[in-house]
Amino acid sequence: MSKTALITGISGQDGAYLSQLLLNAGYSIIGLVRSHSDTDLKGLHYLGIADRIKIEECDLSDFRQVINVVDRCQPEEIYNLAAQSSVSLSFKQPIGTFSFNTMSVFNLLGAIKMVNSKIRFYQASSSEMFGSCNHLPITEDAEFHPISPYAISKMAAHRICVKYKESYDMYVCCGILFNHESYLRNKNFFVKKVLQDAVEIKYNKRDILEVGNLDVKRDFGYAPKFVEAMYLMMQKDKPANYLICSGTSVSLRQIVNIVFENLDIDKSKIKVSEALYRPAEIEDIYGNPEKAKKELGWKYDMSIKNIIDILLKEELDNFNKKLNRRESVHKVQI
Ligand code: NDP
Repeated sequence: MSKTALITGISGQDGAYLSQLLLNAGYSIIGLVRSHSDTDLKGLHYLGIADRIKIEECDLSDFRQVINVVDRCQPEEIYNLAAQSSVSLSFKQPIGTFSFNTMSVFNLLGAIKMVNSKIRFYQASSSEMFGSCNHLPITEDAEFHPISPYAISKMAAHRICVKYKESYDMYVCCGILFNHESYLRNKNFFVKKVLQDAVEIKYNKRDILEVGNLDVKRDFGYAPKFVEAMYLMMQKDKPANYLICSGTSVSLRQIVNIVFENLDIDKSKIKVSEALYRPAEIEDIYGNPEKAKKELGWKYDMSIKNIIDILLKEELDNFNKKLNRRESVHKVQI
């Protein structure tokens, strides 16, 4: 009998790559979306797996709907990836971010407890919870000092998970993931924006790349490899929380430089705009992935240079495909 996994946030970057991985492992997948008509499943289409996934509509803020969907689907595993995931947007929409990112977790865990407490639950926690930390690299027992509304919401959700695990003996695990990138990353995230804008500059479709503070440093990884850790975490005898990261940080300036040098674009096309600075910012953060490597057997050895090489090639290939499609449509119309 194949296992069934229910994935919230299936329309996002990680939802697509995790679905691909679980399908390859023989799972049946049910993806939750907030609205059939308004949800864009382009990630699933891009990976060619959209027709292998059953999509259900569910408002994760509504306990009754969550109980119904968990009861109807009876999954063995629930991966909770849905969240208002942008740090920048969370400064503009703090209450909406906090409310959804915590309420959805309460509702899912409450539903599991009522319907079948044996269902395993994965929570997408975030390295942003650690905030500005004096001791690097971060380890699993580092203290939280969240400095954005997003980070506060993720910390609260994380604590809710720990509480349910300890109080009700449920299989609840949190992957504390550092930034991870892919072609499917939304354009409001830094690496994707730099890659997409730089390719457009290269092909004379855009004049400049406008960025905020380039001095901050982050630990960047590759999304298709990071979702492997989510799956591995859910297969252990006992649940535990793990940091998933590359183990080193790189400045945003270095990323822009690598991309611009690869495409041979002049750096005068980079415009730093203070309007894009965040009200509060972590200067540098990176984690230690040893626990995940040792206990989960998770393998990861990609440098930022490897990741940018892969993503830049994918961005260029897709840009050219779109361009060719437009040109052939144009020719037909003529
Ligand atoms: P994305 O932003 O790509 O996807 C977020 C998903 O959440 C989308 O499917 C979106 O659906 C859904 N969502 C957002 N708001 C709501 C809402 N109000 N109701 C229902 N669904 C909603 O995120 P990623 O795939 O990159 O990340 C997955 C998870 O991991 C997130 O929880 C994120 O916070 C966390 N995380 C991600 C990191 C990263 O670097 N990618 C790092 C650390 C943690 P819709 O299409 O309808 O908008």
